[in-house]
Amino acid sequence: MTTSNLIGLSPDGLKQALLDAGTPAKQLSMRARQLWNWIYVHGAGDFAAMSNLAKEFRADMAAHFSLARPEIVSEQISEDGTRKWLLRAGNEEFETVFIPDADRGTLCVSSQVGCTLNCRFCHTGTQALVRNLTPAEIVGQIMIARDRLLDWPSTAESRRITNVVMMGMGEPLYNFENVKQALLIAQDGDGLALSRRRITLSTAGVVPMIARAGAEIGCALAISLHAVRDDIRDEIVPLNRKYKIAELLEACRTYPGLSNARRITFEYVMLKGVNDSLAEARELVALIRGIPAKINLIPFNPWPNSPYACSDWEQIERFAEIVNRAGYASPVRTPRGRDIMAACGQLKSESLKMKARERARQAELAVAPFGDVNA
Ligand code: SAH
Repeated sequence: MTTSNLIGLSPDGLKQALLDAGTPAKQLSMRARQLWNWIYVHGAGDFAAMSNLAKEFRADMAAHFSLARPEIVSEQISEDGTRKWLLRAGNEEFETVFIPDADRGTLCVSSQVGCTLNCRFCHTGTQALVRNLTPAEIVGQIMIARDRLLDWPSTAESRRITNVVMMGMGEPLYNFENVKQALLIAQDGDGLALSRRRITLSTAGVVPMIARAGAEIGCALAISLHAVRDDIRDEIVPLNRKYKIAELLEACRTYPGLSNARRITFEYVMLKGVNDSLAEARELVALIRGIPAKINLIPFNPWPNSPYACSDWEQIERFAEIVNRAGYASPVRTPRGRDIMAACGQLKSESLKMKARERARQAELAVAPFGDVNA
């Protein structure tokens, strides 16, 4: 019998699966609730662990279903504590990154294997889109990180993963339904229980889907803006040829639930001599006037043969200063995990290109023994 995965099903989908497997209708709600709790609060990896459920029911579940996570191909740990997992589902590989900070732990989650967008400064963009990730594979990234960080049960007080950003490989708004289903599961208060304010979806600007993301997912929004003029943005974010800056900003202005407490993040990668002049800093603040926003300046992370260089540090500081004086928070994103190619825009391609032998060597160098993850 083929077993289907319960991870990634919506609450209704879970009930339907149980019904199809012969669970009596009048037990459905209770059974679904119990399973949901075991899966998403306790992170149960198999049915045998669900100690308060009748043995017979557990055996029955195990015969029909799995709780499969993607397979971990390798785990690398940066000198700064950032962790990157290379995961495999089916024949495809994708990456997830955990970024620990003093006050939070952020998990950077992928939505697709590869990407269609071809942003010129992004390593992932040099790969063709392989496929969309399923809800199980998206939620599975959170589950795996919690497994490896010993971060179960998922109670809000002590968790290591406090924030999720859809900033891994892929364009989340080109995989809307799956991303939505996954993020609704991540937000469910009886399960993973991540606050939707601590979930950020980043888009290069798929304008027609932005309002739906706000209305149907309700998470925080980040926009990969990176340029203030269409001619430059057309060049570095080719999606701009389809959806211009003015349209993109209009979608931002009307994003549901915006307020000073719930701002849009504009990401701006600092490319030396391309988009980093002080005149552009001034244009930037003029452009977004009226939108509750913060500007996240991202020092460009290089990758092999990348066609750009990172702006000089003094230039980034001057740029930040102008934005800041105009009343916008302008944190400069500290590059994290560069030594393991885990920083923004560095994901995946390395793993794809790496030969199996090299990958085995890297894995050997970097994988911590299971007991060591909290060290
Ligand atoms: N497709 C979505 C999700 C990816 S988020 C989006 O574009 O928003 C990844 C972030 O890292 C984006 O803001 C992206 O523009 C940025 N990025 C890509 N390559 C980078 C690089 N080499 N250095 C720094 N940031 C980069």
